[in-house]
Amino acid sequence: MKKFLIVANWKLNGNITMISSFFEYLKLYFSNYVKKNTIVICPPNVYLERVRQIISNINNIFLGSQNVDLNLKGAFTGETSILMLKDIGVKYIIIGHSERRLFHYETNDLIAKKFNLIKELNLIPILCIGETAEEKKNGQTKKVIEKQLDSIFKNSGQLAFRNTVIAYEPIWAIGTGLSAHPKDVQLIHIFIKEYIKKHDPINIKDIIVQYGGSINQYNSKDFLKQPDIDGLLIGNASLDAKQFFNIINISENMIFS
Ligand code: PEP
Repeated sequence: MKKFLIVANWKLNGNITMISSFFEYLKLYFSNYVKKNTIVICPPNVYLERVRQIISNINNIFLGSQNVDLNLKGAFTGETSILMLKDIGVKYIIIGHSERRLFHYETNDLIAKKFNLIKELNLIPILCIGETAEEKKNGQTKKVIEKQLDSIFKNSGQLAFRNTVIAYEPIWAIGTGLSAHPKDVQLIHIFIKEYIKKHDPINIKDIIVQYGGSINQYNSKDFLKQPDIDGLLIGNASLDAKQFFNIINISENMIFS
């Protein structure tokens, strides 16, 4: 049976009041309705422990971090390590988000090192990949994606993508209200899966590729209908409990075998 992975990326948003009301709403419905899919909440790190306590007795909902440092401990002021995230119950870590690449100058090489270490420490990386508007215009989407995937293969070997998640996020679609066309995304997801398959004899069904970019409660179904879209990475719409729950509910009602 196909399951969806729905991830909320709150970015630099939220506070104690928002977290309380968000989960008050979600808890009203969650246990009764969310039976099949996996939901991940990625709040700012400072709120991880608070969210952990709230979700600890709800099934199918997990804790994720939006970023992590490459160092495990020591004199790295202001950073958070994978071991610390693991210590407080984080299961998923988003890496390579375009905002990290853009505002923090993260390179494919650095991201590949983080990916490797996250796997080594038995957490699950959610690797964000995708092209800029300019690259899309110049027909470079596939080349960009190949390069992003190649740096992972180079660091982690041919079986790198086992037990991991890829989030295809065309950069021009993030936070712009301009989502990609679901059918175009389907083709890119097939391309990603086939590219991985060239390196690894993995069953294609075991490669998880989510889509992210201006998902909302009105367009989510059209994306989830595509056979190779295995879930969603949601920014803005995940801050609104009602809208986020509507998306989860849509995904629950679409499960097929
Ligand atoms: C994101 O931050 O990864 C994202 C997809 O944001 P939004 O849903 O707001 O476009």
